[in-house]
Amino acid sequence: MMTEPNTTKNCKTCHTHLPDLLLDSEYAAAHPEIAGHMDTCTPCREEFNELRATYALLDDFRAPEPSPFFDTRLHARLREEVAAQPEGMWERMRSFLLFSTGRSFRPAVAGALAVVLAVGGASVAGLHGFRGIAAPQPSSAVNDLKVLDNNVSAEQQMGQLLDQSGAEDEDPQPST
Ligand SMILES: [Zn+2]
Repeated sequence: MMTEPNTTKNCKTCHTHLPDLLLDSEYAAAHPEIAGHMDTCTPCREEFNELRATYALLDDFRAPEPSPFFDTRLHARLREEVAAQPEGMWERMRSFLLFSTGRSFRPAVAGALAVVLAVGGASVAGLHGFRGIAAPQPSSAVNDLKVLDNNVSAEQQMGQLLDQSGAEDEDPQPST
């Protein structure tokens, strides 16, 4: 039987092996020097028992269930946020960069934004310079609005025509 002196160094080595000893049931057989130290050193044995008790508590721990109103309130908050979104993507990005980043990060962000603006402006200028685009192409929304406007004015003209013809028909002619 090999007896090992319980030096501080041995206890330190033993402590580093305690988690493995706890989680691996075959670890003690593979490392007999640790098991032997545990048998002879009371502090290390107590340490091991406390660690095992802690792990047992963790095994029994169950995360508490969220309150039954959690989902409802979360969805209400999400709907509010979605309803509050029409702020403009650029504004949101700007406020995110200004308020959500660290103070030391802001100059870098401002510099990056300046670079993006400069590059974007240069490319737009280059585009106009090379292709000579004088009138910007109207977007599809603008086209839709024009079509709608045309429809409305056509309806109004039709209505005026009908009113005039109806007025002529129903014009009461005083006949005496
Ligand atoms: Zn020890």
